[in-house]
Amino acid sequence: MIDNNVFHNKKVVFHTLGCKLNFAETSAIGKTMLDEGFVKTHAGEEADVCVINTCSVTDTADRKCRQAISKLHRQHPRATMVVTGCYAQLKPEEVSRIEGVDLVLGANEKFNILEYIRHADASNPKVIFTTKINKIKNFEPSCSRDDRTRYFLKVQDGCDYYCTYCTIPFARGRSRSANVSQTIAKALEAIEVGAKEIVLTGVNIGDFGRQSGESFFDLVQAFDAIQADVRFRISSIEPNLLTDEIIEFVAQSKRIMPHFHIPLQAGTNEVLTLMKRKYNRELFAHKVSKIKSLMPDAFIGVDVIVGVHGETDGLFEDSCSFIDGLDISQLHVFTYSERAGTKMLDLENPTPLPERKKRSDVLHALSDKKWQHFYESQQGKTYPVLWESKKIDDSMVGFTTNYVKVSRPYDKNRINTLEIAKLGTWNADKSALVAKTIN
Ligand code: SF4
Repeated sequence: MIDNNVFHNKKVVFHTLGCKLNFAETSAIGKTMLDEGFVKTHAGEEADVCVINTCSVTDTADRKCRQAISKLHRQHPRATMVVTGCYAQLKPEEVSRIEGVDLVLGANEKFNILEYIRHADASNPKVIFTTKINKIKNFEPSCSRDDRTRYFLKVQDGCDYYCTYCTIPFARGRSRSANVSQTIAKALEAIEVGAKEIVLTGVNIGDFGRQSGESFFDLVQAFDAIQADVRFRISSIEPNLLTDEIIEFVAQSKRIMPHFHIPLQAGTNEVLTLMKRKYNRELFAHKVSKIKSLMPDAFIGVDVIVGVHGETDGLFEDSCSFIDGLDISQLHVFTYSERAGTKMLDLENPTPLPERKKRSDVLHALSDKKWQHFYESQQGKTYPVLWESKKIDDSMVGFTTNYVKVSRPYDKNRINTLEIAKLGTWNADKSALVAKTIN
């Protein structure tokens, strides 16, 4: 354990699992700690504190968290091990029993991490601090840069939807957000330090603004009005909250990119009902065709869950043919796993595990087909590309406005710059199209 009030030059390692929201939050926690004198270091190097921000979206996520905690403890046996995030909020006792864990901080406590570390007591090394999730009301926008070029801005947290398979409302609490001007202020901070692309993230971002009497559309318009050399992407948004008004606005915007990520989850109305989703497949199909009618080259990524209770062979086949008929670019396929406390457990006819795996394989193959078709349709077209920092062999990659990954020979001077490029042949090594820049 570290001494009270002596944070100056103490070394901290951060490890984040899960979604972009977690990365944005680790960044906010990190800023608090670095402002108080901590110095960031890397796993395997000398450290006084390890902070692990966890995910609990599936059983596999829980297992990965346990493995990450154990690995960090082996690397840093004397460091104070702080575990926070969704796994810590949902199963604090289980987390506290993992060897090496000193502090377990829930969703409400994670942003006061310094106070908890300051009072960490060597005589009582396993301490859990969590607040009942329905009591959590606070919200702070936060922003993090990924290991490439993009920034992830947390604009919203929590969810009130309670889909029958999902534990997120129990881990993150009620839907909440700041107001438009506070959110824009956070984005301006990122732009000030060089952000050229900012992704708006949250648990249910379309629900933004309920407390302030504003809407997600208000937020999108405010981002569009920012006068700077920057572009924005909307991350996953529920189909019922992706209004036609938003789609029409994005279609004419120069700053909001023609790139959509929409969770479908199931392609039959029967399973959507079992999941307690708030739309039917006809609404989803309408959103996809609305986007494509206004932005024929827009990238559309779609989440699907396979193998929930009650998804019969026939319903799965129907779902596949519905998805096959959608003009979308890629699927993100998730295999259902039972989660304690969810309503799905009360439903009959669980899908056998081997069948879940088979269905996942079928949809992955469908995703590959969609993806290839989309990429082929983009060859020969010209777009602005934002080049990223990573060097892969002698190449660098970037993304077009409509989220096509492209590559070119590495050139350090191009990192985080926008350039017009014509998309050429397929580069299998980089899983990207070769881009020829146009001067
Ligand atoms: S919308 Fe449904 S799936 Fe998404 S976070 Fe909320 S409860 Fe979970």
